[in-house]
Amino acid sequence: MTKLKLKKQSKLGIIIIVGLIIAIIGINWTVNTIKQKQYEKSNEYKLITLGYSEKDTKTLLSKYKNKEIEFILNNKKDSIYINILKEKYFIYSKLYDYLDYYKDHDGKDLTSIVEIVNTNRHKEYYEDSKKTDISKKELMLVNKYYYLDETYEPQDLVKIPTTYAWGDYGSQQVTKDTYDAFLNLWNASHEAGYYLMVSSSYRTYAHQKEVYDQYEKSQGLEYADQIAARPGYSEHQTGYSLDIFEKGLTQKTFQDSESYLWLKDNAHKYGFIERYPEDKVNITGYTYESWHYRYVGVDAATYIYQNHITFDEYYAYFTK
Ligand SMILES: [Zn+2]
Repeated sequence: MTKLKLKKQSKLGIIIIVGLIIAIIGINWTVNTIKQKQYEKSNEYKLITLGYSEKDTKTLLSKYKNKEIEFILNNKKDSIYINILKEKYFIYSKLYDYLDYYKDHDGKDLTSIVEIVNTNRHKEYYEDSKKTDISKKELMLVNKYYYLDETYEPQDLVKIPTTYAWGDYGSQQVTKDTYDAFLNLWNASHEAGYYLMVSSSYRTYAHQKEVYDQYEKSQGLEYADQIAARPGYSEHQTGYSLDIFEKGLTQKTFQDSESYLWLKDNAHKYGFIERYPEDKVNITGYTYESWHYRYVGVDAATYIYQNHITFDEYYAYFTK
């Protein structure tokens, strides 16, 4: 009697255990299936399915916002999305401009693409140009994409004495900061054995207009644009620019002189940069001007000098 009871009980026990095991397996299977279904909806899964490696997928997900991930998912796998991130001067908000430029210029290296787009060179000169932010003071950018309006005039202009500048006293002016920095530069250059002279400095909007209009009238718009900045687009209107030569030298002879080599390698210590270098014409949009120096302050000037970039690039990455 007891034996039979026991047998019955153990049978029941086995049934319960087996039932439980089946239930657990079932639940597990359901949970896993749901998990898998959910994972398949994730961007991680979609990126891996598109062909990105796990490592690249992690990078993409950590560096891009949802909107950009959507964009990447809607396109073919392309290493540019990873590689562009490695560019030193990559700017997130310019991503689509980089990609458009890349699409139109197959084979162009990414460093050049970033350089060009950051400095707006993917656009035509004067196209979609913006009024520059004058609150940036010595870091304001004036080029073929950023302009000053007719009324802009620096508030603290200082006259450069004729010891350091051509023309009548008062005809050459720069901002106070620029002048103070220039004096230090001048003294250092003098100690090194050179005699620097300023041949051009602050120019009013009206003056630039006169110069530009004259070229345009006599030689046409294309020529005028090549040779002169349009009114409002000249850096000389900022009061932070100087054209500097060694006494006795001209635009033709200065670039081969020792004084130029000295200036080029020492100007940054006093806050000045060579603004339109020979090997940066494609970025600045200006032909090589060995004599044109721009005051940007010691920090910016030193960075620009040491990293061999232009002010246009510096502005896009650090100032704007
Ligand atoms: Zn100049």
